[in-house]
Order: sequence, then C-alpha cells, then structure tokens
Amino acid sequence: MNHDERTRLFEDCGIRAEERSGGSLRVRSPIDGAELAQLHETPPAAVLQAIDRAQHAFIRWREVPAPVRGELVRLWGEELRQAKASIGRVISIEAGKIVQEGLGEVQEGVDICEFALGLSRQLHGRTIVSERPGHRIMEQYHPLGPVAVITAFNFPSAVFAWNAAIALVCGDPVIFKPSEKAPLSGLATFRALERAIARFGDRAPAGLAQIVIGGRAQAEALVDSPLVPLVSATGSTRMGREVGPRVAARFGRRILELGGNNAMIVTPAADLDMAVRAIVFSAVGTAGQRCTSLRRLIVHREVREALLARLLPAYESLRVGDPMEEGTLVGPLIDAAAFDAMQRAIDDAKGQGGRLLCGGDRVHAERFADAYYVRPAIAEMPSQTEVVRRETFAPLLYLMAYEDLAQAIALHNDVPQGLSSCIFSNDLREVERFLSASGSDCGMANVNIGPSGAEIGGAFGGEKETGGDRESGSDAWKQYMRRTTNTINFSTELPLAQGIRFG
Ligand code: NAD
Repeated sequence: MNHDERTRLFEDCGIRAEERSGGSLRVRSPIDGAELAQLHETPPAAVLQAIDRAQHAFIRWREVPAPVRGELVRLWGEELRQAKASIGRVISIEAGKIVQEGLGEVQEGVDICEFALGLSRQLHGRTIVSERPGHRIMEQYHPLGPVAVITAFNFPSAVFAWNAAIALVCGDPVIFKPSEKAPLSGLATFRALERAIARFGDRAPAGLAQIVIGGRAQAEALVDSPLVPLVSATGSTRMGREVGPRVAARFGRRILELGGNNAMIVTPAADLDMAVRAIVFSAVGTAGQRCTSLRRLIVHREVREALLARLLPAYESLRVGDPMEEGTLVGPLIDAAAFDAMQRAIDDAKGQGGRLLCGGDRVHAERFADAYYVRPAIAEMPSQTEVVRRETFAPLLYLMAYEDLAQAIALHNDVPQGLSSCIFSNDLREVERFLSASGSDCGMANVNIGPSGAEIGGAFGGEKETGGDRESGSDAWKQYMRRTTNTINFSTELPLAQGIRFG
C-alpha cells in the first residue's frame, strides 16, 4: 500500500491530516518501517481535564436508563460494521496483522457491541430472603464512574471495544489510552464510537468517551487519579506489576490482563491432524504476538514423532511476508526490540540444552530493511528451563515430551503465568482431569481447540502473573458497576438480625 493509499485510508477512518502530523509520537508500520504519523501527545495536565469532564459526564450518564445506553452501543456496532474493512486495514498496517486477522479484530468489536446491547437489559441483582419477618433483601448494580482503558499494541481495537461497550451500558464514561505502538487503530475505533455518539444525540453528555494519546506518562495520570474508580490495563506483566499496586494504593479497582505462557497437551488419544492445525494457527497467528499464543507444546512420547512428522512440513510451508498480500499467513514482528528478544530467547534455549528444530531466522531483510520478519521457530527442550517459563512475544514454540498425564499437567502449571491452555484428546478421562480442580490452573482451559482465538461471550483473562481478572463476556460486567445490598423492612416492628435484643 503506497503513501497516498494509506493517507486515504486514515481519512476514511476519520483520522485527520492535522492530527497525523507535527507531533512527537512517531508511529511506524512494522510492514516496512515507514512512518505513518506524528501524533500529538496529550499533555498530562490535559489528561486530568479529561478525567474532570468524564466525572461531569458520569453525573448525567448514570441517570440514562441502561436499555437506552444500550442503544448507543448498538449504533457503535453499526459504525464498526460499516467501517470494518477500513479499520481492519489500519490494524494490518499498524500492528502487522494479516488482513483476515485485522478484519476479525474489528468483528470482535461488533460482537461485543451486540453482547452489550443485550446486557443492557440484564444488569440485575438478586432478591435474597431475610431472616427477619416482614423484611426483604435485594441487590442492585449501579454505575461506577469513569473507566480508564489502557491497551497493548497487539489488540489495538478489540480490547478497547471489549471494555468500552460494557462500561458504557453499565453507565460509565470511558477514557481510552491506546498503545503508543498502535494508536492509529485505536483512533479509528474511537472515531467510530464518536460517530455513534453524534447519531445518539444530546442524550450522550459531553465527555462520555475520550481518548488520550501517549505512553506511560498519560497512562500514569489515569492510574493515579482517585476520580477513576476502575483502571482496565492490558499489556505486559512488567506493566501490571507497576500499575496494580498504584491503583490498589488509592483503593481503586483494576482489571489487569497481562502476559501469558500458554500450553497444549497432546495425548496419545489426540486427533493429530486436528492438533497440528490448531498448533499452527495458535503458535504462528499474529506472528506469535497474541497474549494467548501457543508457546509450549507438551507431547506424549508415543506421539512425538508422528506429530513432528506432520508439524514440521506445515511450518515449512508457511508463507511469511507482507500481511496485506493474499496468501501470507505470518506478518512481521512489531519492531526491532521484539526481534532481538526472540533471538535472545533462541540463544538462551540452546544454552539451556534445547535444539532448534526449525525457523528463527530473519527473512525479507533486503526487501524490508527496516522491518522484522522471522520464520516461526520450534525448539525442543530437555525440560522446562528458565527460558520456557518466561513469555517471549514472538513465534517461538517450545516442545517438551511427557510420560504420564499427571507429569504433563504438573509441567503445564509450573510457569508463573496462567492465561490460556488446552488439551488434545478424545479420551474422556484425560479431558475431564485436565478440566478438573487439579487440572489446568489457567483462566481458560480448552478441549480440542487451541489456546488462542477466544469468543467474546466468555469471560476472558487469566490467573497468577496474568493478573487474575476477567473482562468481555459472562458476568465480567459486574466489575464495571458497584453493588449495593438493600434491606427493606415492610413490617411495623424493628427486629434486629442475629436475634439481638437491645434495650
Ligand atoms: P506494554 O506493557 O509495553 O504496554 C501496554 C500498555 O501499558 C501501553 O498502553 C503502555 O503505554 C502502558 N504502560 C506501559 N508501562 C506502563 C506503566 N508503568 N504505567 C502505566 N501504563 C504503562 O505491552 P505491549 O508490548 O504493548 O503488549 C504486549 C504484552 O501485552 C504481552 O505481554 C501480552 O501477553 C500482553 N497482552 C495481554 C493480553 C491479555 O488480555 N491478557 C492481551 C493483549 C496483550
């Protein structure tokens, strides 16, 4: 895509020429290293003003009935659907995703808007029986306040949509701080929301949805503000380690969605053809830069050889290249630092007794001197060494063999992260054991599908160093609201709980 086509695309997405130039945040495409924009960073003082506006918006928005708030996300879903092709292409240009994955990411936004629309009529609490005669207890969920959404580069559109669609129907204004590595995709998604707000009219207060551009400084202003009761932050475990305690220090709520180190167990009862297809998609999709990417393959000794006989040729045939070109399955890494981290991990793996079975080398360096394309790698490890236990955000898959399922599950759980996991097996006992309390310790545990590519209907997130929180579907909405317990006395007496007599 040449410069003029990119310019037209940004204009189509509502990202204006004046906001794309003259600023200090230089945005580059991982496809060819070309500069896409020089965005203006929001001064930290302006972030505080945005928080103030959001507070004012909250006072009005919380009074709008939830099903009416649902109408706004319905319109947002429509705008995203209409702009799907354009936003998808911005994601490809900026985050390096292949076209199919860029489109899929926008579809997630459409899906969560539809989910949130339905949810807007279901934000209900329980009625609870009272121990006292003539009394009733009930729960209500009320809007919480402004929600900050801080996102990572690899899902620059969908993670904002996951959070904002739910927050908005729950009655909360949103302030979005997209990744400094992929702010244009965030802006394009945000512009679709602004168009929806314009159609929704004056029922939406000013300051209901705002965006701040920048990196850590802008994020920190949101993290530290007591006027932001919920901070939803997606990114590395390093980031979560810094953000978590700061939000806790002011008794704020947080949703932390951090790094993963996701594994698949392949047992002798697995359908190996299906397993291979799932391994390839989940280990090399988005060039291994999904939080749920498959990073560890734990294979029974008996099927190791048969699996490799299918897997290695599949890796061999993968087309690595320009993600905008038809037929490409693996696009570029986000930047040079990601490439260096992958090379370091491969060296460490070799130093820790591993053997590189395929890939790992840089390709297309002549065509794209300022971009980093790598052939997806598989390294066979003698055990779960230090390098295997850390997340390397690249298409690098570690293979380990096991003898019995108990050992495989122990290996599976013996990492600091706990996001996604899966087992390939047609043996009911093996499957149920993996899903049981003594099975996978991850937030997501799948059977006969890979660890990546979750649907929005379920709660998304993981345990341990992944953060312990959940967002998206199921009952994740409850974190965006405050619960009140109401005891109502409709009798003429005043009995005390626990049978206490007073006076
Ligand atoms: P990153 O941690 O470098 O940045 C993520 C966001 O946090 C950015 O917006 C950044 O500006 C902000 N940030 C960084 N340091 C901060 C600090 N000290 N205080 C406040 N904000 C700060 O992550 P990245 O490189 O953009 O993304 C890759 C990582 O994100 C991987 O580890 C991946 O597993 C993880 N991730 C997790 C999920 C999930 O849902 N669990 C989803 C996507 C990505």
